[in-house]
Amino acid sequence: MAGPAQRRRSVGVNVGGVMVGGDAPVVVQSMTNTDTADIEATVRQVAQLARAGSEIVRITVDRDESAAAVPHIRERLLQMGVDVPLVGDFHYIGHKLLTDHPACAEALAKYRINPGNVGFKAKRDTQFTTLIELALKYDKPVRIGVNWGSLDEELLTRLMDENAVSRTPLSAAAVQREAIIQSALLSAQRAEEIGLGRDKILLSTKVSDVQHLIAVYQDLAARCDYALHLGLTEAGMGSKGIVASSAALGILLQQGIGDTIRISLTPEPGGDRTTEVKVAQELLQTMGFRQFLPVVAACPGCGRTTSTTFQTLAKDIQDHLNTSMPEWRERYPGVEALSVAVMGCIVNGPGESKHANIGISLPGTGESPAAPVFVDGQKVATLRGPDVADQFKQMVADYIEKKFGSGRRDAAE
Ligand code: SF4
Repeated sequence: MAGPAQRRRSVGVNVGGVMVGGDAPVVVQSMTNTDTADIEATVRQVAQLARAGSEIVRITVDRDESAAAVPHIRERLLQMGVDVPLVGDFHYIGHKLLTDHPACAEALAKYRINPGNVGFKAKRDTQFTTLIELALKYDKPVRIGVNWGSLDEELLTRLMDENAVSRTPLSAAAVQREAIIQSALLSAQRAEEIGLGRDKILLSTKVSDVQHLIAVYQDLAARCDYALHLGLTEAGMGSKGIVASSAALGILLQQGIGDTIRISLTPEPGGDRTTEVKVAQELLQTMGFRQFLPVVAACPGCGRTTSTTFQTLAKDIQDHLNTSMPEWRERYPGVEALSVAVMGCIVNGPGESKHANIGISLPGTGESPAAPVFVDGQKVATLRGPDVADQFKQMVADYIEKKFGSGRRDAAE
């Protein structure tokens, strides 16, 4: 079976106890959208994101009140048993906030800085140096996060001018990509000159166009061995954001590029911020890089399924697995690898069900009202009656107990 390209070699970075890069699996990150100065709201959202599976959470640190809140947020989270590393997102005045708020500098597990707005003209170098010296002082890694929405204008102008007189000029888009990459690499080089180790540096080069993102990361990955954070910036809302992010990140991950990812979805008003975590997990799991939740394969339905029985059962099973997972993770090691199939009729139902650990093929329109169940490729039962869903859920529970619980231990003894 075809698989991903060999993972690009990168220098591992320890972010508050979570390894990013090196031999570590691809890490899922997220970011809050609360006012960090609002301690209650930020603690609540960080906890939600962490419990959804975010392994690192980034928070905005934009002013004194936010910086002052950070150590309290960290403390409250620890009291709640949430030990997720917090990353501070700094723009314009990060050097000042980290200098004036040592408890904030200490509480954060990583600093994210944007070389496009660290400072301007003469102040840029001194403020960048201050930030790196603070990272050294507090022994924290730094993500140098370039974003094409806030690209270093001086650098871009210089490269555009050089390109204009070049014998083989590049397209404007290619020059812009080169500016993004150079901004990241030159900043990383400068950070190393100041004394920051390669194992303390991560890079990201985010753009909002899928093809540009793929091109810029392919180039960046070939030119350095820093750990890379992937994300399609401003991906958008709903299915658009999910598809665009998955297309871009999926291709890069398949090529072995990327050590940590974030899906930058815009939530619907009042929407669930944890969706970005679930999408990141599903992307990694779908591509076979990591396992977070049991997989439910369900057919889309067609004219052979005129009732909603199988849709209801597929959702019922998926919800049951999701809500049971926190407990199952403790009781059934490895249960994340479970695969379940819920299929709508005889056409693909038995075949797909045989590929899953446990699968059910519901009767389509005109078929006899019986639902064969397959376990590890073998037909083991035929369910009938109005409580097929409950019967099948019980069979799933029995299977999990046998395969991942004490049944498995008994068999091993
Ligand atoms: S398995 Fe049956 S119901 Fe489901 S999509 Fe295929 S033909 Fe339609």
